[in-house]
Amino acid sequence: MKEVAIKIENLDYCYPGNVVALKNINITIYKNEIVGLIGQNGAGKTTLLKNLLGLLKPTKGKVSIEGTDTSKLNVAQLAARQGFVLQNPDRQLFADTVEKEIAFGPQNLGLTEAEVQSRVEEAMEAVSVTKFREEYPLSLSKGDRAKVVIASVLAMKPQIIILDEPTTGQDYLGCLQVMQIVKELHKRGHTVIIVTHHMPLVAEYAERTIVLCKGEILLDGSTREVFARPEILEKTFITPPQITQLAQRLEKKMGITSKVLSVEEMGEAILYAIGSDRIKDM
Ligand code: ADP
Repeated sequence: MKEVAIKIENLDYCYPGNVVALKNINITIYKNEIVGLIGQNGAGKTTLLKNLLGLLKPTKGKVSIEGTDTSKLNVAQLAARQGFVLQNPDRQLFADTVEKEIAFGPQNLGLTEAEVQSRVEEAMEAVSVTKFREEYPLSLSKGDRAKVVIASVLAMKPQIIILDEPTTGQDYLGCLQVMQIVKELHKRGHTVIIVTHHMPLVAEYAERTIVLCKGEILLDGSTREVFARPEILEKTFITPPQITQLAQRLEKKMGITSKVLSVEEMGEAILYAIGSDRIKDM
């Protein structure tokens, strides 16, 4: 049976002034899922993350992390279960070497020096920044700075990792590096939530996608099924990746499946439509 990582039940959140930011949110996220959280600006994504992290308390309903109600956990206990990578990782960097940066969190957990060191080595290794251990974090490339922040989160050994717009401001190589790490985290058994406006990235990496619109869940399902509903996505001004849109337009003309998420799948779908038997299941 699948283990539950996060359970959100009947969650409402109102900001002062009666601004309703979340309405009746019900989500169960299972261990080792990669979930894309999408929606236009103001949809409620940040408010939802802050409720997960215990930075905001639900106005109504409850959030449980690994079976424990977040209202019973303090911020440090929540941080041990969930790591958070901010939209601008530079705001999470402050130490004068990469090694000290990554050691900071574990040192505050009151671990022995040997345990701190072992976590630092493991985290640096996981994202390939060991060679930068003596470097000043802010002097590294943007992609490497993001890696250092992810290492500092990993050193806390959280099961759940939440990334807010991890590729914003990254060049192509930086994006690839960050997403390669996300894949690696998934392989290691972590649960990963990615908030992003970058639909091709959702299509490629998230197995499940949750769409928020005006504080409510508009769609929640496999990424393939979610992107197959362009008429609903429109309500929150989301368009599927270009390759999916192309397939959706060609569906009637060529009889190809519209549930295409990548260029490779498009090739397979066209081959199938023209009668080739070189097709994988979709
Ligand atoms: P997103 O992250 O999807 O852009 P947010 O969670 O930031 O959405 O915002 C959801 C809603 O809550 C919006 O209507 C926004 O204006 C409102 N909101 C966000 N932060 C505050 C705040 N501190 N005070 C009042 N309203 C807020």
